[in-house]
Amino acid sequence: MNQTIKRVLYTILSCVLITAAVKLFGVSWSIACGIGLIGFILFAYIINILRDIILNRVVMQTYYDEMEYLRRQMVATVSCSYCGKLNGVGFRMDQRNEFECEHCHKNNLLSITASTAQITTPLTEVAELVNKKI
Ligand SMILES: [Zn+2]
Repeated sequence: MNQTIKRVLYTILSCVLITAAVKLFGVSWSIACGIGLIGFILFAYIINILRDIILNRVVMQTYYDEMEYLRRQMVATVSCSYCGKLNGVGFRMDQRNEFECEHCHKNNLLSITASTAQITTPLTEVAELVNKKI
């Protein structure tokens, strides 16, 4: 059943239940129906607000998930294994990384290797040391 029809039926059913509950207190039908109508309007309004809040949360969560995915993605310029031309490629360390060459349109597998380097003093700190000695 369509969600909208289901929602309207729930709202009408709760309106009828409110009217019947109010009638049990011994008030006239016109007052009971008036209160039921007010209940219908309030339920419809509250359900719409809740739906908007839930949809906003889902949209925002999807947005944050995409931003988190992009934040964890790194970019490197690598050469194609077929034509040798350079491509800017986004990659992640926690998944298999493939890319299609922009130039020859062949699929490449991105191979990541680790290497070591000596720890050196940044040039800005060297310049500060030199300035202090002068
Ligand atoms: Zn290529």
